[in-house]
This record gives sequence, structure tokens and C-alpha cells, in this order.
Amino acid sequence: MVSLNWKHHTLIQALISRGPLKEKEFQSIFTGVTGRNSGAAKKIFDKYLLEINKELSYVHFELRACRDQYDGQVCYGVVNNVADEQSKLGTKYSVPQIAFFKGIIEAIAQDEAAQGCISSFDALNIRLENQLPSEASSSQQQVPPAFKNFSMSQKEKALVELVKDKWLCRTNEGNIGVGIRSLLDLRSWFRNNEVPSCEVCNEAGVKADLCPSEGCTVRIHKYCLKKLLSQRDDKRCSGCGKPWPLSKVTKAEAVEEALNDEEENETQPTAPKSKRRRQLRSHGDSTDNSSAQASLASTSGATGRRVTRSVAHLR
Ligand SMILES: [Zn+2]
Ligand SMILES: [Zn+2]
Repeated sequence: MVSLNWKHHTLIQALISRGPLKEKEFQSIFTGVTGRNSGAAKKIFDKYLLEINKELSYVHFELRACRDQYDGQVCYGVVNNVADEQSKLGTKYSVPQIAFFKGIIEAIAQDEAAQGCISSFDALNIRLENQLPSEASSSQQQVPPAFKNFSMSQKEKALVELVKDKWLCRTNEGNIGVGIRSLLDLRSWFRNNEVPSCEVCNEAGVKADLCPSEGCTVRIHKYCLKKLLSQRDDKRCSGCGKPWPLSKVTKAEAVEEALNDEEENETQPTAPKSKRRRQLRSHGDSTDNSSAQASLASTSGATGRRVTRSVAHLR
């Protein structure tokens, strides 16, 4: 058993009290604490993360990295691997607020166009009744008063709080998207709810570009697409073999992006390395949607697997 020193503790503390942190912020804290540059001393940086995660795993927490799907930047955070979403948000948010949050995340995750957001209008019109356990939702009488009385202004207030806490985000267009805290924390939920993964990085393609071919369900994050393009000119969709439209990404842009990313990628402690990718189901299969509608609460049975998988990356 490795024992952690004050340097490890400072890093954990920074992520818990101020996180999730952008890679640059986290690395500058690392440099401040250890006197090492995380880029030059990458092995030492990785060793710290590994040691921290070995200890955190005993209490089912994990220091994790993931990309903000809206700007492509790597972020670090400490996530709770065991608790369901109720207990993750429960200390601060009320039951109807959590139901509201779940409704928004589900609406975004189910979007077949993978735009990664919904309008504020749609968000405010999310029906909390849909978040009740299935046996209760069949009967209107069982809708708790707290749900029925959850007013528009309470929803607006919850939105502001959830954005502030990075569970949700505001996109550049003013829509409501998935916040970095949720991207870090709900990784298993996105998998369990069959949000199709990005072809390149295997993370859920919450905000991604879709293959334009009819019937092809391949999706790729914009930043992953840029990286791919920097590696070769002829990019064909791995699903249908047709050329991927690249008009919006110039080669120069892509190469630059890839150079910036190279280091970032290597320092991600939990980036999925295995090419474990579920075969996507055919486009016409209407059951795809209904399975994604399972509520966040119903995923609690998967937490055991979740822990095993995420810890396994680090060993
Ligand atoms: Zn990707
Ligand atoms: Zn395709």
C-alpha cells in the first residue's frame, strides 16, 4: 500500500474543492507542488496520478480525466464511483431539482443528431413526472406535490445553479449542454444508456459529428475528427466506407490541433485504451430510443461494474 504525502493530498484537495480543473490549471498546480513540469516530467506526473488512484480506489473515488466535448479541452476531476446520481447531487439539490437535472441529461443524450444540447425553452419544459419510477408514473395521483409544484422560476433557478456547479453548461449559442462534471461523472451512465461512442476515442458521443450516410450511425467528436485528419488525408467512415465530409476542418488546423493534443492525450490517466466498442445497432431499430430512456436512477445496479472497469485502467 502506497502512502500519500502532502503533495498528493494537495492535488486531491485542489480537485475536490475547485474541480473539475482544466488540464493547464491542474498541471500548474502540479508544477507548484512538485517543482516539476508535468510535460517534461510526464512519468512523474503519471506516477502521482497512479498513486493517488490506488489510494482513492479503496474509498471508491477516482481521479479521472476527460475531454470537455464542447471545446475539446482535457479536464481533471475526482469522481465518486459508487454513489448513484441521487447521492452525488443530493447534499445540495432537492429531489425535484435532481429529477429536473436527470430529465435534461436524458433529453440531450437521446438526441439522435448528437448536438449535445437542448434549448433553454425545452429544458424549462422538461416534465418531472417522467422521472418517477415506472410504476409510479402510470398513476397521476402518485406524483409527489414537490414535483407538481415545481414552478418555472424554480426551474430557472435550478438551471443557474446546475450550470454554476458544472453539472450543466451554457453553450456558445446559449443552449443548455452537459457540464464537465457530468461528463466526468456520468461516463458509465452514458454507456449504460447506449449513447453511441465516438469511433476514435470510444467515449460517449454526446456532442459529435454524425456520418451523413443514411443508415450509418457512426459519430465522431469534432476534436477527434481533426486528429484523424491530421494523420491521413483520405478519411472514410469506418462504418459505411463513404468519405467523411471534412469541409469544415482544414488540414493545417487539424495538424496544429494534433500537435497540441499529443501531450494532453498521453497524460490522461483513464483514457480508454482498449478498443472495446459495442457494435452499433441499425438505424431503423426503434427500440434504441426506449432503452435510452431508462432513468439515471435505474443504473445503480451497474455501479459494481463501473468501479471495476475504471479502476482497471489504472493498474
Ligand atoms: Zn472522440
Ligand atoms: Zn458512415
